[in-house]
Amino acid sequence: MRNPIPDLLDELRERCADDDGGEVLSTIPELAKADPDRFGIGLCTIDGTVYGTGDAEHRFSIQSISKPFAYALALADRGRDTVLEHVGVEPSGDSFNEISLEQSGRPRNPMINIGAITTHALIGHEGISRKQRDKRVQQGLSAFAGRKLDVDEEVFASEQSEASRNLALAYLVHAREKLDGEPHHAVEGYIRQCSLLVDVRDLAVMAMTLAAGGRNPVTGEQVVPTWVCTQVLSVMATCGMYDASGQWMSTVGIPAKSGVSGGVLGALPGQAGIGAFSPRLDEIGNSVRGVRAFEALSADLGLHLMHAPEVASHVLYGVVEPDADGDGLREVQLQGTMHFAAVEVALRELEEVPDGESFVLDLSRVASATDVGRRLLLEAVERMRADRREVRITDPHDILGG
Ligand code: GLN
Repeated sequence: MRNPIPDLLDELRERCADDDGGEVLSTIPELAKADPDRFGIGLCTIDGTVYGTGDAEHRFSIQSISKPFAYALALADRGRDTVLEHVGVEPSGDSFNEISLEQSGRPRNPMINIGAITTHALIGHEGISRKQRDKRVQQGLSAFAGRKLDVDEEVFASEQSEASRNLALAYLVHAREKLDGEPHHAVEGYIRQCSLLVDVRDLAVMAMTLAAGGRNPVTGEQVVPTWVCTQVLSVMATCGMYDASGQWMSTVGIPAKSGVSGGVLGALPGQAGIGAFSPRLDEIGNSVRGVRAFEALSADLGLHLMHAPEVASHVLYGVVEPDADGDGLREVQLQGTMHFAAVEVALRELEEVPDGESFVLDLSRVASATDVGRRLLLEAVERMRADRREVRITDPHDILGG
């Protein structure tokens, strides 16, 4: 095979597999039975190509990794304001099952249990039945994965039998009037949500859907609006890895979410969706090998979000000067993606065109434009035309039209 990526992932997995630190979760009886040596990694790209290595097709219950997706559904169904009235967006710095409430009684964020149970209760329309909500959750998470996800009834029953702590959290939120509906309904539905079965390839596709603005790269379905993904990824970046979120962001730099069954999901906006699974957990509750794998992926593939991309200075492909005898027009040729920083460079180049001189703006090498980039370019063209300059635009990909 010419593509070196599968080998690269195999090698990376092997390197991380020698770490057998950590313990399988013991508090949920059904999860305690997991084979501690399992280890798989999945990676999905923006065009829907999915790579897998190790135990890539082994299924496990999604657990807390369901939280960002449930948050996405609640935002899409009830709107940002209603969801924010009930659940905050600040890191708690506490364990995932702590009583992390703000003064107002609002859970601190949707990535810890108390906030996730509250978020679950907001999914669907107001007054929706418990059964209908379960269906909405199952269908919604399945749409993110691009295949129908099933509930592991044994995991569900096992966790239901040990639900005192989650019930206590739900009753506390209820007492502060921030929970929609009955506490035991919210907990039961939340536990069903946590019991959905996935493998690391599913996690990779789910992550890529978030990282692609809500459009599943495999099925093409727009699962939630783009603004929802911006909100969800922001909260994952600050709160996704429990009380290790700050450390994670500095070492790995990928918005992520982990779960107690040993899964870790990471979503790098516009680039990659990643899933990892290995059941042994560190003391915070994050998969030991999962964390190792993400550290290695981030370093080896240069995936840290805060690593500045080199784009702005490349926006100018070339400038063709008009002929000395006055024939021909000056041509400003742009390339790449027209986002704010790139367009800013281009606008200064346009500023160099002498007053009154006509010219050609060549966008044939431009791949795409953000709304802001498009608006700024159009505004510049309009101003130049008002200046009695002839501006011809070569725009075969309709960058300025759409
Ligand atoms: N279902 C688990 C719980 O509520 C999920 C927690 C987790 O994965 N961190 O305790």
